[in-house]
Amino acid sequence: MSSNLSIQPAAELRQPFAAWAVAQRPKLRTVGPSSFGVPAALFADVPEELLLGALVDGQPYVPRQDAAAPAETEPGSAPPETAPGAEQESGPGEALPELPPEAHEPDAVPLDGPDFAPLEDVPVEEQPATEDQDDAAEFVCADCQKSFSGDRGLAMHRTRVHGG
Ligand SMILES: [Zn+2]
Repeated sequence: MSSNLSIQPAAELRQPFAAWAVAQRPKLRTVGPSSFGVPAALFADVPEELLLGALVDGQPYVPRQDAAAPAETEPGSAPPETAPGAEQESGPGEALPELPPEAHEPDAVPLDGPDFAPLEDVPVEEQPATEDQDDAAEFVCADCQKSFSGDRGLAMHRTRVHGG
């Protein structure tokens, strides 16, 4: 019987502790007006919150820190460190313009609308008219003054007659 611990829960925890005590098998028994006899082997199974402010064998209960850390503080601090951190890395991608490319077309300045005058308004420089090609004799052999309709004809002529 010496292995039993006498636990006197705090006044506000007496009822929940009693509820836990009677739920054990075998049922825990009271050893005093407000104390419960808890086997030493079962002491580790007593919920931490039921032992706060309790007296264990007449000594104030010291919260367990090494073996069983309080379950209330752990969950609140651990999860936020991992989950949101990774998502923040991909955040800058959302800063890109949301408008689709076609949305810019109506207001965009036409690229084919130059400031200078269109080609038909530009003064036409002097260039040989195609219909006057025969009389103009643009391609004339410098040696024999023979005219040709094109530079190719002239080149062939010079190669054959004048040896290139
Ligand atoms: Zn010639």
